[in-house]
Amino acid sequence: MPNKRLREIPAVDEVLKSAKMQEYARLYSKNLITQEVRDILSKMRTDIIAGQKTDVNTIEKLVISHIEDILKPSIKKIINASGTILHTNLGRAILCDSAVEAVKICASHPVNLEFDIGRGERGERDSHIEDIVCRLTGAEAATIVNNNAAAVFLTLNTLAEDREVIISRGELIEIGGSFRIPEVIQKSGCKLIEVGTTNRTHLSDYISAISPDTAAILKAHTSNYRVVGFTASVDMRELAAMGSRHAIPVIEDLGSGSLVDLSRFGLPREPVVRDSVEAGIDIVTFSGDKLLGGPQAGIIIGRRKYIQKINKNPLKRALRVDKITIAALEATLKLYLNPDTLHRELPTLRFLTRPIAEIVLVAEKAARLLKQRLAQGYIVTIEDGESQIGSGSLPDEVIATKVVSITHKEILPEKIFEMFLKNEPPILGRVHTEKFLLDIRMIENAQEVVIGD
Ligand SMILES: *Cc1c(COP(=O)(O)O)cnc(C)c1O
Repeated sequence: MPNKRLREIPAVDEVLKSAKMQEYARLYSKNLITQEVRDILSKMRTDIIAGQKTDVNTIEKLVISHIEDILKPSIKKIINASGTILHTNLGRAILCDSAVEAVKICASHPVNLEFDIGRGERGERDSHIEDIVCRLTGAEAATIVNNNAAAVFLTLNTLAEDREVIISRGELIEIGGSFRIPEVIQKSGCKLIEVGTTNRTHLSDYISAISPDTAAILKAHTSNYRVVGFTASVDMRELAAMGSRHAIPVIEDLGSGSLVDLSRFGLPREPVVRDSVEAGIDIVTFSGDKLLGGPQAGIIIGRRKYIQKINKNPLKRALRVDKITIAALEATLKLYLNPDTLHRELPTLRFLTRPIAEIVLVAEKAARLLKQRLAQGYIVTIEDGESQIGSGSLPDEVIATKVVSITHKEILPEKIFEMFLKNEPPILGRVHTEKFLLDIRMIENAQEVVIGD
């Protein structure tokens, strides 16, 4: 029997002869179509031999649907109703309008990335952001790399390769995506010297660990957890002064770091980059796409002599950012020159500070539309909820929000979650306390969270 069925499989050329396939070969590439036909016929052969059902009449349809799948963009828009504002899996910060414009220009034209137009000669890629970063942070100099992980790595490798780096045991952190401070220290070629205990580290612990081989003291912001209770850590001012007395640079990995004091917007306080600079920390590193609200980038600021050294490290070349990142970062940073309009212009801050009354309006409309759209048996209500900042920023702080809760007596919330995710564009909610929830904080238009037919 299989032999007879195998003989039913047409030859590749025969399939390609049909009008539909000819049309596809003209639209796309003949090679692409031929390869697809070959793959499908060969799979059919394997299926027949394995005794599985196949239908030679579906060949054409299969080829077309495969080609369409291949041509569809893999990266696409998602509706973030998860309640996590800076969601690492969803690409963290959304760019402001002026950054999107700058990216467009950079993507479609030659630009002065490394060209000094005034002098008509080669320029510096970092020059587009260094002045503004220094203005906003009070630092002497700045440089930029791919992300904050790269910033920490490059700083340590430059200042402390083959030598010792002292860090408190309370700061040996792991960030999501397997960034572990002890491993980064090791991979950057430095020797880790742990001091103090998990909950308490004193200035004297650092001092007694100093040796002729000490190259740096590292302070890492414990961004995604808190140690509470009987705790002690060394004030950054004291640590910086001690480092300076011993001529040892003090480096701080601030993680998110904020360029403005968020408490002025009624938000919980996250460390402000300028405070670290003013406290005398020699080098501070932070992310471009966390609270700053820009593109993925790692910003390294501090004393000019150290930044110069970092820029001379051959690894800087390997970790440098592209024109698109620089354009987006420059535009984002420029918004900070006017703190009074920042909460309107910068999407991250706009979402964080969105008035609850506005969220309520959208939630009510979304609930109404969903009630109309969903079949009988679904219960749609509006409830109080909590949004979180995400990306390790302010881990134990939440912001009051409104959520649309959707439940069904016979359908598990996980199934409802899947149903919304299958929408085009996919809608990401979350399951919490046996309910499927849509956080409305980031939803500007109620229609966005209403699943299609
Ligand atoms: C997020 C974070 C990092 C990693 O930054 P990326 O920009 O994601 O590479 C490093 N250290 C701390 C303390 C962080 O919070």
